[in-house]
Amino acid sequence: MERILNYVNGTLRPALGGGWLAGHEPATGQVFAEIADSDAADVEQAVQAAEHAFPAWNALGRQGRHDALMRVADLVERDLDLFARAESRDNGKPVHLAHEVDIPRAVANLRFFATAILHWGSEAHLMDEVALNYTERQPVGVAGAISPWNLPLYLFTWKIAPALAAGCTVVAKPSEVTPWTAFLLAERCIEAGLPPGVLNILHGTGPKVGAAITAHPRIPALSFTGGTATGARIAATAAPMFKKLSLELGGKNPVLVFADCDFEHMLNVTMRSSFRNQGQICLCGSRILIERPLYERFREAFVARAKALRVGDPALEDTDLGAVVSEAHMEKVLGHIALAKQEGGRVLCGGERVRLDGRLRDGWYLQPTVIEGLDQQCRTNQEEIFGPVVTLQPFDREEEAVAQANATPYGLASVVWTRDGQRMHRVARALKSGIVWVNCWMVRDLRTPFGGMKQSGVGREGGVEALRFFTETKNVCIRL
Ligand code: NDP
Repeated sequence: MERILNYVNGTLRPALGGGWLAGHEPATGQVFAEIADSDAADVEQAVQAAEHAFPAWNALGRQGRHDALMRVADLVERDLDLFARAESRDNGKPVHLAHEVDIPRAVANLRFFATAILHWGSEAHLMDEVALNYTERQPVGVAGAISPWNLPLYLFTWKIAPALAAGCTVVAKPSEVTPWTAFLLAERCIEAGLPPGVLNILHGTGPKVGAAITAHPRIPALSFTGGTATGARIAATAAPMFKKLSLELGGKNPVLVFADCDFEHMLNVTMRSSFRNQGQICLCGSRILIERPLYERFREAFVARAKALRVGDPALEDTDLGAVVSEAHMEKVLGHIALAKQEGGRVLCGGERVRLDGRLRDGWYLQPTVIEGLDQQCRTNQEEIFGPVVTLQPFDREEEAVAQANATPYGLASVVWTRDGQRMHRVARALKSGIVWVNCWMVRDLRTPFGGMKQSGVGREGGVEALRFFTETKNVCIRL
């Protein structure tokens, strides 16, 4: 049995209350870990450690913080195999996916922000002979970070790396469903000599630990990634306290396929944007809109490819889809498929739970599912499903496709497939989403702002925006 301990003031320890939660392995449905069940008392202790560590962490300067974060990144990279297997065991995703994408991107987050802080300048404004203004940016103090289960270490480091680089100390909570890689990270922080209290990692449930971080009066900035309903609860608590708040929330992302696209390339990438990580990426495209002349060809090829995907043991190299993250989540996705049928949707493939053999027989596996015949106003196309489920719908005109794409409360990401250069820009401008990928998907330059519009979030992270988020801006005006 693995033991997932808190990391507070540089040491690994159980929750103060002594309680434990059960950690499940999605591939087998079995309990494999016990997880510290922390509460508000642990949050208070972690905040005190972070406050104590703050002056010295700042005094280290940019170079010192850079060096410390780079040492942590090197150790995660050294143990990439271990991290990838842990993430797969926690989350159900194929090991090869964690190995190729999640863990290397987590390392890149640490290195990117460690380096970015070295190059981060501030502005000066000279008012002729009257005055000199310069902008000073100081770390806000103790930052809070709360992250979800779908890309556990990647999203965890996406929050803590800019906060630490900017000079904040941090109290962070990974999802209780997937805590293992954050625990392994804590061990590497100790090995790297990160000063005690600079990063504190608390495990436990959202309503206990997450809510206590959100409500803590001495955590002035909070970076959250998760569902829109949770984000709304967090905003309701944080707003009257005037906390800085970054919310990266859910999505219902459209994929617009125009008839002039490079069909084979589009098809390869759209398979990934639909089913990668069992469809549990906030950026997955779940509503595929196809220009009518291409519709039949697309449907035939897409369904054939979806049927050929291998759902299986996450440990195997040739597995395309592993298990979904929990039994509750599997039931939620199956409930959405049942709803789609009630709404008049035709299931073209999939729609069922997959039962594997042997030790995997109780694992939480789902078939990749393709549905057609639903308009964009139905619940299936309005609500985030967050599983291996996509809908197909034809369109006749570009404006119609854009209107359908924009017709949800979400605005996280969109994908456009076309070879027409003018259309690329026209459609990208008209789409209401924080990121528009044209002829690609999930290509990320960490210098660019990232985040959603509408109910997909507020605040843009990425690049200097993330460093800015964790600092207070001050103007100093000197009379000349
Ligand atoms: P949740 O909102 O359920 O949880 C996210 C985090 O918040 C978890 O650590 C959770 O803890 C914690 N939490 C739960 N309740 C509270 C609370 N009352 N106060 C404070 N914290 C709380 O999301 P999921 O983990 O289910 O993640 C999936 C969601 O995340 C999807 O909607 C997805 O779209 C979104 N997401 C958005 C991304 C983006 O960049 N916009 C990227 C990735 C995912 P615990 O798990 O322990 O309960």
